[in-house]
Amino acid sequence: MNASSMLDLYASEIQDMYNAEKQLIKALPKIAKAASSESLSNAILSHLEETQGHVRRLEMILKDLHKKPGGEKCEAMEGLIAEGDEVANAEGDDAVRDAGIILAAQKVEHYEIAGYGTLCVFAKLLGRKEDHRLLGEILAEEKNADSGLTRIAESEINVEAAASS
Ligand code: ZN
Ligand code: FE
Ligand code: FE
Repeated sequence: MNASSMLDLYASEIQDMYNAEKQLIKALPKIAKAASSESLSNAILSHLEETQGHVRRLEMILKDLHKKPGGEKCEAMEGLIAEGDEVANAEGDDAVRDAGIILAAQKVEHYEIAGYGTLCVFAKLLGRKEDHRLLGEILAEEKNADSGLTRIAESEINVEAAASS
């Protein structure tokens, strides 16, 4: 993490989010497989495809900043994924486990929304218009993934999960 200037801080956080997205690309297939609901599993897999697009956009931004993609490790995403794995591997009721998977996945989306929301503001502040556009596209997809998970929880999983007790 480099806090010498706003540009350094911005570049460090882009590298952090790049690492977070790379971790997600590894983790999401396992979590999708653990989901019992087909709509949940499909939502996770379609966000996996979007996540690949996030990595590509971040690579473009890093290239323009003359920064290597591998500079930072996102400890937060490591922890959030560990929580997701824990619930995905839990014994018990399928709908309840799915409710737990949604909980873990929404924590991930909210972390990303916070990161990209701030990065959008920083890009604007730094006059980096193309970055601002790319980060805005990522942010919109993260928000959309989050509300999609809410929809699945409310329309399907939560009622079934509550009925199991
Ligand atoms: Zn993302
Ligand atoms: Fe992070
Ligand atoms: Fe995401």
